[in-house]
Order: sequence, then structure tokens, then C-alpha cells
Amino acid sequence: MSTQAPASPEPCDLLVTGDTVFTLDAGSRVLKDGAIAVRDGLIVDIGPAAELAVRWTPARTLDGHDRIVMPGLVNVHNHTPLMITRGMIEDIGFAPMYTPGIPQGHWLTEDDAYALSRLGMYELLRAGCTTVVDYYRYPSSCARAAAELGLRAVIAGRVHDADPAALATGRYEHKTAIGQASLAENAELIARWNGHDGGRIRCDWAPHAPDTCSDDLLREVGRLAEAHGGNVHTHLSQLPLEVEAVQARSGVTPPQLLDKLGLLNDRLIAAHCIHMERPDIELCGKAGITVAHAPIGNAKGGRIAPIVELREAGARIALCTDTFSGDLIEAMRWAISMQRINRQGNVLDARTVLGWATRDGAEAIGLGDTVGSLEVGKKADLVMLDASAPSLAPLVDGYGVLVHSASGHDVDTVVIDGKVVLAGGKPTLADGAAIARDAQAVARQQWNRAGRDVIG
Ligand SMILES: [Zn+2]
Repeated sequence: MSTQAPASPEPCDLLVTGDTVFTLDAGSRVLKDGAIAVRDGLIVDIGPAAELAVRWTPARTLDGHDRIVMPGLVNVHNHTPLMITRGMIEDIGFAPMYTPGIPQGHWLTEDDAYALSRLGMYELLRAGCTTVVDYYRYPSSCARAAAELGLRAVIAGRVHDADPAALATGRYEHKTAIGQASLAENAELIARWNGHDGGRIRCDWAPHAPDTCSDDLLREVGRLAEAHGGNVHTHLSQLPLEVEAVQARSGVTPPQLLDKLGLLNDRLIAAHCIHMERPDIELCGKAGITVAHAPIGNAKGGRIAPIVELREAGARIALCTDTFSGDLIEAMRWAISMQRINRQGNVLDARTVLGWATRDGAEAIGLGDTVGSLEVGKKADLVMLDASAPSLAPLVDGYGVLVHSASGHDVDTVVIDGKVVLAGGKPTLADGAAIARDAQAVARQQWNRAGRDVIG
């Protein structure tokens, strides 16, 4: 929607042009030779480039010749410090917290977590992700990394009272001291980082999973989250081990347990939702939870979540990469392919899944009025892809190529809050090569401790 044409051009901070602009607004407008005017971090005008050139005098212009412009991607579940397991965990386990023989979260120092989180944030940005939900141990390190690289982020701690050392060998030992320490860490994060930089960094609560948190801890985190507002982030029905442990402990399934404790509602962002039978699917759908769908992780674990059934039952679907890679574009096509295998039919399309990775993800985390599409009044969070890349031709309806053929490597420029945070594929606020080097040094030390030689 264009604003009223002023009598003479008005100043703005930034004018972004593009050969093709995917707005992902309610009408799914696609603009040929489009432009976006930005002032004070907000989109103040969007429409044909020729019209905006008359209306605005920008302090800076991003030339969109050979560029496709789209909203920044929203990744609703991730753990940047777990980048340390990437390239190994895929073949030796599934969820790192349950896998022996790999670096353990409780081995890391705060500095280690920060170095790894910077790598994860850099990779996300490089692949066009502008908003990420990230939670792990030392969450303040994740908040600091996101703040420094310029990402919009929802950060939380990793609340649990199961002893991770015992869990890595398949035993559940719930300890009050561990639970209280993880609650304190999440509370400190909120006190220190919630609302940072005009709200670019927000903090929430994240109980790790129904099996790694006792009933008492889940009740307590539920009370704290209710008082805090925002979302509650968790892993749900991720592994057979989790389902069996909750059944043995409480006599119910993981979704039934969360329902009993008051956590199963439309504020819950539940990653995975893989091991669910019909009653669980209906319960989650009725509660209106958001499923943070991690198709690549599902595939590597050997079973796909019933997201089509969950959606039909009333759940919201949003997308995530969860640990393995920061490329949400790749995750989009995996989501489609996995469901086609699972359902033996063409049950999903590119437009729907692009919506999950943008608007629906933003709505799930309470940012539906702020980001997720390119519209006047929203934050200027956008991505420019190199339209001259061979993977982006031919452009017919555009959605198909973006989802089925593009990759994070086609991202050239990223703007968040109206600021250019990635240019020419390089972060503008940090040294990308130094980030990769620092993370490698941490990985070398930690994998050596796990008994592995490291070639890098
Ligand atoms: Zn996860």
C-alpha cells in the first residue's frame, strides 16, 4: 500500500529497490521493479520504484538491479551453541542432550557458548534469517551474540532438572539444585536482556522437555511464564525415550502432561511433535499450540512429524532449523518433500511453506504486527537475493524457485530494523572469518575431550 504522495520528496533513511519484490502481505503482492522506503527502522512506503523515486529522498539506497527482495525469514526454534555438534550428531545420534560421546552442554564455559553462538548467528544471518528463537545454557551469551551481529531474537534459557550427565547414559535423575540453577539463569537473562535495543532482543521462558523437567519444575516455570508474558518454548514428543519416560512417571503422554499442568495453549511453541498418536494430535490442535517443525532434524532422526494432521486439527505450523544448519530455505523444501513421502501425495505447496517461514512464524511468537511481511508500518527486516544466480532462474511464479531451488547462499544483503547487517554475503557488524576461527578452537578442545581427533 502506498502512502499519499507528498507535494515534494520527503527524506527517508533507506530506499531498497528490487527487480522483484515478494511482499507476502495479505494479498500476496509481488512487485516488478518495486521499492521500499524506510525511516526510523520502519517501512514507510512500498510500491513501484518509479513512484517511490518521486516521493522520497533517501540518505542511502540499496540498488536492487538483479535482486529479489523478500521478508526476512523467521526461525522459531534453534540452539546456536549446539553448532558444535553439526556434521557429527547427524550420524551418531539425534538430540544432543540424549547422546553420549559428543561434547556436552555442561562442559562449556560461558565464553565457549558465546563463541559458538556467534557462529550460529552468523550462519543464520548469512542464510537470510532475520528473527530467531534461540535457547540454551548460558543464554546471555546467545543474546549478546544476536545483539552484536544485529539479529532480531527471542532468547531463553534451558530450564531442566534432569541431570544431563545421567541423561547422556539414558538415566533420569531429577535434581532440585539443577532445576533451580537453570531457573535462575533464565531469570538473569530476562533481567539483563529483555527489551534490549528497542525490543530487538526479547526473552522468554523455555522448559527443555516434559521428560527432562519434573512436574514441580514445569508448574513453576508455567507460573513464571504466565507472570512474564510472551511464549513458552519447549521440545515435545521428540523421542520414544521421552514418551516412555513421561508415561512411566505420570501415566500420560507428554502433551497430556503439559495440558494437565496448564502449559498446552496457544502461547506454547513446541518443537518436533513427532511421536504423537491421534489423541495427542487432536489435543494439541484443540489447544492451538504452534509446532516448530524441524524437517531436516526429523529426517535425520528417521521419523517425520504429522504436521498435516496437526494443522488440520487446529495447530499452527512454523519452521525451524534446530541445531543442524541455519538454512531455512533448505528446511522449506524438506518440509514439503518429507510430507509427500509421508502422505504419498502432493499435500503441501511452496507458498504455504514460505508463509510458515515468514508470516506464520512471526505470528506464533507475537511479532505478527512487527515482521514477517513487507508492509507499511512493519519493521524493515528484509532479504535481498542475487537474482543472477543460476539457481534463481527461470523465475516464473517465483515462489517455486524460492522454495525448491534457492539456497541461503543466494542471500546477498540482509536488513534488520532498517540497518544493513549483511552486505555482499558478509556481516557488517562483525568479522565472519574470525567468528569461524574462534568457534573451531572451541570445537577442537571440546571434541578432544569427547575422545575425537579434530582435523581443523
Ligand atoms: Zn531443539
